[in-house]
Amino acid sequence: MNSSEIEAYLEAHAPGETEFHQAVLEAAPDIERVIKDLDPDGEHGLGARLLVPERLITFRVAWRNDDGEVEVNRGYRVQFNGAVGPYKGGLRFAPSVNVSVLKFLAFEQAMKNALTGLPLGAAKGGADFDPKGRSEREIERFCIAFMTELHRHIGPDLDVPAGDQGVGAQEIGWLFGAYRRITGQHVGVLTGKGTDFGGSPLRPEATGYGLVYFVEEFLKHRDDALDGKSVLISGAGNVATFAAHKAIEKGAKVLTLSNSTGCLVCMNGLTANALDALTVDHGDADNPLKALADNIGAEFQDDATPWDVKADIALPCATQNELDEDDAKTLIKNGICLVAEGANMPCTAKAQATLIDAGIPLAPGKAANAGGVAVSGLEMIQNASREPRTAEDIDTKLKAIMGRIHQTCVDQGGDGADQYIRGANTAGLRKVLSAMKAQGV
Ligand code: NDP
Repeated sequence: MNSSEIEAYLEAHAPGETEFHQAVLEAAPDIERVIKDLDPDGEHGLGARLLVPERLITFRVAWRNDDGEVEVNRGYRVQFNGAVGPYKGGLRFAPSVNVSVLKFLAFEQAMKNALTGLPLGAAKGGADFDPKGRSEREIERFCIAFMTELHRHIGPDLDVPAGDQGVGAQEIGWLFGAYRRITGQHVGVLTGKGTDFGGSPLRPEATGYGLVYFVEEFLKHRDDALDGKSVLISGAGNVATFAAHKAIEKGAKVLTLSNSTGCLVCMNGLTANALDALTVDHGDADNPLKALADNIGAEFQDDATPWDVKADIALPCATQNELDEDDAKTLIKNGICLVAEGANMPCTAKAQATLIDAGIPLAPGKAANAGGVAVSGLEMIQNASREPRTAEDIDTKLKAIMGRIHQTCVDQGGDGADQYIRGANTAGLRKVLSAMKAQGV
């Protein structure tokens, strides 16, 4: 299947799924090359098999809000590719969740999970439920209703979800409790659990820490280091805050965080104490980031993003397509040296092309943010062996995995600014497609 056949296939069989098209088309040259190598005569039908999820489950989630009214949401699980291992990927609760978004996330997850070197297949799921403005009891009831349907489709050797946007440690706890009560089994069916009931140390930190370990590898490869570098981070959630913590620990100056209402700018660099203050309960503050800015004397710019602040490194850690072509041009003008994606597909296709054309290296999420799923894979091993691990052990393994992913990109990606994109796609696809070929149709 060549790139134009891939495009035609998507138009015919996944019409209107814009995010899914974007993710696949970014990888199309690599899909074409790897398939030519593994299946030159098209005998195994690898292209079409790669582009159609193995299973797409949609279900009704009906639950009662605090006023006793029934609300109905759409729940999903996309079991995209199980060739390399049990399906694995997060659950997202956000109003923007739909089939296209989940298919793009699951497609990227296939390559990401293969890159970790662990036996993990690919999935993604969630619901178009917006936890913002909901009471804790409402979110708990929603989680129970969601798991009442999802439980029949998952299992420790079948499909192991984790968190994503809107699904943090507390939601995983409620989902796990519901699974356990429904099935009577205490098994490793979700990752990101509390460490008191099977969770891995450092899972909450793993994506953000892993991103910074990847950036360190990138700099080491160029005889450079993070110490003294200025860093822009978008988002103020799980990935963003732990990336900020680790970057600060490594001596970098973190100038920004952001959320869907605006951007905190702190030109002196955020401190670890300031970040800790962000995660404590801010009472009635609707906007913890703005409250933090007020507390530490930093600026909060309404409706702004971090991308026009001058810095060495940009780490988009909020959401898909948050950094567009104009942002890319501004970053280039301001002398950015590296964009490494903590979020999944945060750069639009045009932003990506603009950065690459200007020779700015871009580390794609499927490589740079793989630390989260890698530690989820380690949690699965811990649950299967029933042998707890220490934080030191997990941190050492996380660093080693991020180092290997970096080296794989360098080895397989050629020498352009798109080295990390090409390398991550090529290595990930080669593993997934080889496993599919070996297992037959
Ligand atoms: P969280 O829900 O913890 O945080 C998301 C953050 O992004 C919030 O601060 C949110 O602000 C902000 N945000 C959301 N939408 C926008 C927007 N349109 N513009 C600006 N800011 C926005 O999510 P995570 O940190 O878990 O996930 C962030 C990204 O990282 C996602 O792409 C996710 O898929 C990816 N990822 C996450 C992993 C994990 O382990 N959690 C693993 C690998 C990738 P607000 O509160 O105002 O909405």
